[in-house]
Amino acid sequence: MKAWFAIPLWQRVIGALVLGIAIGYPWGQVGSIGGLEPTDIKIIGDIFIAFIKMLVVPLIFFSLVAGVASIGDLRKLGSVGWRALLIFVVTGQMAVWLGLAIGTFAQPGGGINGSSMQLDADKLAEAQERQESAKSFSEMILEVVPSSPVQVMADVNVLPLIVFSLLIGIGILMAKEDGEPVLKIFESGSIVMQRVTMIVMELTPFGVFALMAWVAGTLGLEALQALGILVFLNYLGCFLIIGLIYAGMIKFIAKLPVIDFFRGIVDAIAVSYSTASSNATLPVTLRCTQRNLGVSNSVSSFVVSLGATINMNGTAMYLGLATLFGAQAFGVDLTWGDYITISILGTLGAIGAAGIPGAGLIMMVLVFGAVGVPLETIALVAGIDRIMDMMRTTTNVSGDAAVATTVASLTGELDRAELISADDV
Ligand code: ASP
Repeated sequence: MKAWFAIPLWQRVIGALVLGIAIGYPWGQVGSIGGLEPTDIKIIGDIFIAFIKMLVVPLIFFSLVAGVASIGDLRKLGSVGWRALLIFVVTGQMAVWLGLAIGTFAQPGGGINGSSMQLDADKLAEAQERQESAKSFSEMILEVVPSSPVQVMADVNVLPLIVFSLLIGIGILMAKEDGEPVLKIFESGSIVMQRVTMIVMELTPFGVFALMAWVAGTLGLEALQALGILVFLNYLGCFLIIGLIYAGMIKFIAKLPVIDFFRGIVDAIAVSYSTASSNATLPVTLRCTQRNLGVSNSVSSFVVSLGATINMNGTAMYLGLATLFGAQAFGVDLTWGDYITISILGTLGAIGAAGIPGAGLIMMVLVFGAVGVPLETIALVAGIDRIMDMMRTTTNVSGDAAVATTVASLTGELDRAELISADDV
């Protein structure tokens, strides 16, 4: 038991992934062993995914309310807040459209025949039905209004839940001292939910093993190849975000040498890649932005902390890409309207995702459900999520540092002399 926990989680997950394929593939070739087929093991993966779904509502609710309320004062939202929020949303949109473009162009799910995955017929019918019941614009607007918050939570209807959470956060800020007890509840609730997520994440090796064995056993090598392509595209998208969007922001808006910026955040890059958690990396990101990049303490603590919760462009890009992957694998036709829905929900999902490992996987529930992509896609990609999560998180964290630096330069809170020069390192 001790030896098990002594191995870092990500290593256990990778081991489970390899073992799942090594056992699942020959199992699929043989067919049935002792009366058991590869589909029978899927139940373990289903349990894992059910636990993940359990986290969606409380995680978004607590982390978003606490995130908004932690701004501290409505006026503080002023010059720094608006700039940061604007950059978060604009780059989030760019990221999700990048994911959609890569997914449309490269067709990563094209090599998979999802119908051979032996899905429940009613689940597919349900996806189809959602697809057909296209909504009018006014219906879509009305759906965003959380007319009954409890109902919204019971239905795991994330969009109105986000609206509700934002309103509660603003209400807490407006209530000032009187709102403090409620703020405490949300702050501690958010920490508690992160711990609960850690518990669920301990199930990952088992879920990954079962899901990979099932995928390799029922879909064979083509599916594994398609998943490999998805991983590659996820990395490509993340590199493009870092190399184009962030580097562009640093060079053209903050007007700083790009190389020095990335040298300054090397520690944060290393920690984010190995932990797959923006939150866990937060102290390192703060230190890098303050000491190496010369961002003032007030701007960095506000922008970087808020960014660790809501600025997740790697996650936004991935949500776009993964939705197309699922749609292609299961033959769901997406319209332009669906693309727009994905872009909005992808950005909101990235905002709502907590900065912890696997949060992006949880947010898939939100986007897939809205455009009729079967939730089985989550089972398909869950086995390789960790490898992609590491790169998403590095992208998210680099983004927090890039936005903090850019906002600081725009508001005169950047000490340019402080920026480590290339020669000092
Ligand atoms: N793990 C990511 C983060 O902490 C979120 C995600 O799963 O995409 O930033």
